[in-house]
Amino acid sequence: MADKKLIEEINKRRTFAIISHPDAGKTTLTEKFLLYGGAINLAGSVKGKKTAKHAVSDWMEIEKERGISVTSSVLQFNYDGFCVNILDTPGHEDFSEDTYRTLMAADSAVMVIDASKGVEKQTIKLFKVCVMRHIPIFTFINKMDREAKDPYELLDDIENVLGISTCPINWPIGCGKEFRGVYSRKEREVSLFKAAMNGQKEVETEVVSVDDPALLGEIGDTFKEKLDEDIELLDGASAEFDLREVQAGNLTPVFFGSALTNFGVQTFLEHFLDMTTTPLARHSSEGDIDPVEEDFSAFVFKIQANMNKAHRDRIAFMRICSGKYEAGMEANHVQGGKKIRLSQSTQMMASERHIVEEAYAGDIIGVFDPGIFSIGDTICKSNKKFAYDGIPTFAPEHFARVRQMDTMKRKQFIKGINQIAQEGAIQIFQEYNTGMEEIIVGVVGVLQFEVLEYRLKNEYNVDIKLEPLPYEYIRWIENPEEINVDRIVGTSDMKKIKDLKGNPLLVFANSWSVNMVLERNEGLKLSEFGKNN
Ligand code: GDP
Repeated sequence: MADKKLIEEINKRRTFAIISHPDAGKTTLTEKFLLYGGAINLAGSVKGKKTAKHAVSDWMEIEKERGISVTSSVLQFNYDGFCVNILDTPGHEDFSEDTYRTLMAADSAVMVIDASKGVEKQTIKLFKVCVMRHIPIFTFINKMDREAKDPYELLDDIENVLGISTCPINWPIGCGKEFRGVYSRKEREVSLFKAAMNGQKEVETEVVSVDDPALLGEIGDTFKEKLDEDIELLDGASAEFDLREVQAGNLTPVFFGSALTNFGVQTFLEHFLDMTTTPLARHSSEGDIDPVEEDFSAFVFKIQANMNKAHRDRIAFMRICSGKYEAGMEANHVQGGKKIRLSQSTQMMASERHIVEEAYAGDIIGVFDPGIFSIGDTICKSNKKFAYDGIPTFAPEHFARVRQMDTMKRKQFIKGINQIAQEGAIQIFQEYNTGMEEIIVGVVGVLQFEVLEYRLKNEYNVDIKLEPLPYEYIRWIENPEEINVDRIVGTSDMKKIKDLKGNPLLVFANSWSVNMVLERNEGLKLSEFGKNN
């Protein structure tokens, strides 16, 4: 039976990722969470391409040069009795498979949407991964202090494009210069927006009951009338709040606010922490593993290489799924078939990396990796040696043929490119019908091409040239044993390739070709996610 302290520690953990399209305000919202969590005193001190040159993980030159973060990191802070872990998912051109994989380590997601834009491309991609995992998704509609789309339209957009029901928890009154505040539906009160808020410090918001006559004076006739109308409409028409539906990922609670001015951030954080889940049980070869009942177990979701060039060491980031981690403890590396000592775990506290002595289910730790771990590996204390379900391979969207400049360095090249692929930064493929000579790399974000080139040169002393290929869509063949892969009828923009295990895949330049090929080949089953392990 688990002890009381362990149960307490695990139950206060909330581990989530923030997903959004670039510029929607993810960094700003993260900063504000930390501000309210007391982890930083002044907003603006967390990483960010505009605010600071140095990212939390500026270990690589390429990151320093551009002032961006290539790898995702974890931020931990305490708030109101909760221990909060925010998994940072890189956006912009540094968007990569790591961004997707980070979602595999989260128990819920916060989706930030720019109120003037609605649902955007990158949000859709990340959303799909959350749906695959059935984790709860919370929506924060940001930038209400700017001109915004009609709130009903924004909800329709979420429902239609993403296919999830919405339940507004609060409702905006005006927007932009006319932004008056938000109405909290359950509490039946209005939080008033004051334009003077500059967002540097926590703010006290003024709250007025919707039945208080003073409200009229605060927001004016027109807005009061519109609000009364909206309240009636919402109470009659929108989906009922149902926590079970939220936790199953079928219903997203929606909040409106403005991260920059701190408006609505604290309310959001409080409701969110209350509604979101404690560390979830995870499925393994031995069935579901209860976070509090089982001894320490974790799985690797990210490998960060060469923090120190001289040593070529790596850090394996793991999500603890059950029990407690103690520095220096021994555990089974299931896939490697060996007992190992877990040492040098690091963790991010706000913007500093520090050594962790103990950690609990829900937490993320970075463990020194002498080159033995792969993405998806399980580490467990128990002698049952169960393995957690693998992490899928996410579809790359950019492809290039790799030409190696100096054929004398073939060995280093193969070693380097394989190691980089093993860390999960790139995927490597070959022509379907030829040998090892030609290598095709696929990446989720184009920056990974630069990372590949840079690392091969700096760490393996190998020069390469990348020739871009026009393909953007990749599909794994789900049932290669049921069909004759050699006889697939393709389209002019389709190409057959195979991964290193010999599994056949199809790549396409146009999305409509995918459907065309499905139509032309009866019985063919294609998947957007590759199976791993
Ligand atoms: P990210 O790319 O999603 O991390 O977005 P950032 O947090 O870096 O924000 C992008 C830009 O939008 C920055 O210039 C922010 O200052 C601005 N921004 C973020 N939140 C708000 C907001 O609530 N209102 C306004 N007006 N601007 C915002």
